[in-house]
Formats: sequence, structure tokens, C-alpha cells
Amino acid sequence: MGIPHKEEIPLDENGRPCRSCTSFKSWMKGMGKSAQSTNQETNLPPHGSSSALPPDSHSEDPRPQRSDCPVDKDELGRNTWSFLHTMAARYPEKPTQEVQKDMTTFVNLFSKFYPCSYCAKDLQEELKTNQPDTTSRSNLSQWMCRIHNSVNAKLGKPLFDCAKVDERWRTGWQD
Ligand code: FAD
Repeated sequence: MGIPHKEEIPLDENGRPCRSCTSFKSWMKGMGKSAQSTNQETNLPPHGSSSALPPDSHSEDPRPQRSDCPVDKDELGRNTWSFLHTMAARYPEKPTQEVQKDMTTFVNLFSKFYPCSYCAKDLQEELKTNQPDTTSRSNLSQWMCRIHNSVNAKLGKPLFDCAKVDERWRTGWQD
């Protein structure tokens, strides 16, 4: 997976810095901005934004907080995984052939349009040898979990226990 060097900001198709391909921290470094100057100039996730930085990172900033800025790579990722896992959790138990075909088409098209270029390329590579298992809700949920885990592994994150995917994304935890 082609994760750019910390201070390198990937460019979008117009040759402009790509926010949705960059974590907030890397963006700040790459643009040579201090946290104090970011909010108005770049419209990036603001001080105290729910994503990007730990909640206490900007706790001394007295300015009003904004929550309507473009997403960075990590917020985009979290939101997208929520969508993908929830979609799989609500997929039919017994899909028709047509539904299975549609879901396969959706996942392959999704991989072309995901707005983090190197994430999208990586997913396209994965799909060359690992097409979605669309034969049932359970199989699609497990496939999605494995795909997410392969990204987790590449990023050095802990792997999720796929036996718990329904509790996480469908039924809620059994406390
Ligand atoms: P996320 O990984 O976003 O997970 C959100 C929540 O999902 C977790 O809190 C957990 O409860 C649950 N979860 C975690 N793993 C699983 C699983 N296996 N199955 C079910 N639920 C799970 N970032 C990069 O830096 N490089 C990439 O190449 C890259 N590729 C991506 C490809 C796609 C298709 C997507 C959607 C995102 C990609 N990202 C990539 C973003 C990255 O995966 C994370 O979303 C981002 O780093 C934020 O991570 P996070 O730790 O907040 O939790």
C-alpha cells in the first residue's frame, strides 16, 4: 500500500493537495501550518473536531469550534466503514442472483470512486484476487470484516474479531 511519507501530501486529479487522502496531522505538517492558523485558512477539521486529533490536543484554544469542514482521510475512513459494515449487516439473508450481481458491481465501482486515491488503488488490487462474497448477509459481513482487517493490518492496527461483526454492526453488544 502506497502510504505517502509524513510530510508529503498526495495531490488530487487537479494537482491540488488532497485532504481526503491525508490525516489532519500530516496535512498540518505538509502545509507548514500551526494548529492556530488552520481553521479559517484551510477549512480543515477544526480544533476540537471529533476526528483527526485527540480531544485534548487543542483544549486551550478559546475560539468557537466548527464541525462543518471537509473530512480528512481518517474521518472519511471511519464514516465509510460505518456505511459499508451497516450495508452488509442489512443485506438480504437470501439475495437473488440479481441482487448478488448488483452488490458485486457496487463494491467494484465503489473501489474506483473512493476519494482517497492510494486507498482506492489498494482496494482495487485486493479485488483482483478477492471479489466480495455476496451469497448471503453473513458471508458479505464476514468478507467486509476481512477486507477491513487487511487494511488494519497494513496500518499496524489491531485486527477486529470477525465473530463479533454482527454485534458491532447489527444487533448491538450483549451486555
Ligand atoms: P476504523 O478502521 O475506521 O474503524 C472504525 C470502527 O470499525 C472501529 O472503531 C471498530 O469498531 C470497527 N472495526 C474495525 N475493524 C473492523 C473490522 N475488520 N470489521 C468490522 N468492524 C471493524 N487509511 C490509510 O491510511 N491507508 C489506506 O490504504 C486506507 N485504505 C482504506 C480503504 C477503505 C475502503 C476505507 C473505507 C478506509 C481506508 N483507510 C485507509 C482509512 C482507515 O481504514 C481508517 O478508517 C482510518 O485510519 C481511521 O481508523 P480508526 O482507527 O478510527 O477506525
